[in-house]
Amino acid sequence: MRERKFALLDRDGTIIVDKVYLSEPDGIEFADGAIEGMRLLRDAGYTLLLVTNQSGIARGYFDEAALNRIHVRLEELLKEQGIELAAIYYCPHGPDDGCDCRKPAPGMIEAAMRDFGFAPGQAIVIGDSDADMGLAEAAGLPGLRIGEGEGRFPNFLEAARYACRLFEGERKDQACM
Ligand SMILES: [Mg+2]
Ligand SMILES: [Zn+2]
Repeated sequence: MRERKFALLDRDGTIIVDKVYLSEPDGIEFADGAIEGMRLLRDAGYTLLLVTNQSGIARGYFDEAALNRIHVRLEELLKEQGIELAAIYYCPHGPDDGCDCRKPAPGMIEAAMRDFGFAPGQAIVIGDSDADMGLAEAAGLPGLRIGEGEGRFPNFLEAARYACRLFEGERKDQACM
């Protein structure tokens, strides 16, 4: 039986354009290659999970109801593209709150591993920041970074292609190429 695998995706700057403290669903704009990349991951058998720091809540820029509206809309837009997020994890805290869920702390991945019953060897992180890579390191799984510069992927699609190759050979009919 094929082992399940999980892609833990950052939100801002990774699957959607980073609007910096996005507070309105209308501001959702998918990042370059994000839809195509998420379809690729889906077709390769990845369960997609969102892990996002939302300190705008702690800072008082928006509340959890506003964040929920954004995520409901995000899921609608993704559904129109045939893409499903199995869960959305967010940290509402600020940098000085000392929580264990704000990336790079591994709290959100630990919650996902409990909820979905997977091990670090079955999962990857795709993100665009130091916090995302720190999260991957803290949880002991591969971190794929989008952005400019050495060792980074120019967009989400390229990271997704690499993610598919990580499990190459496991499944012959996978859609990754
Ligand atoms: Mg980001
Ligand atoms: Zn937190």
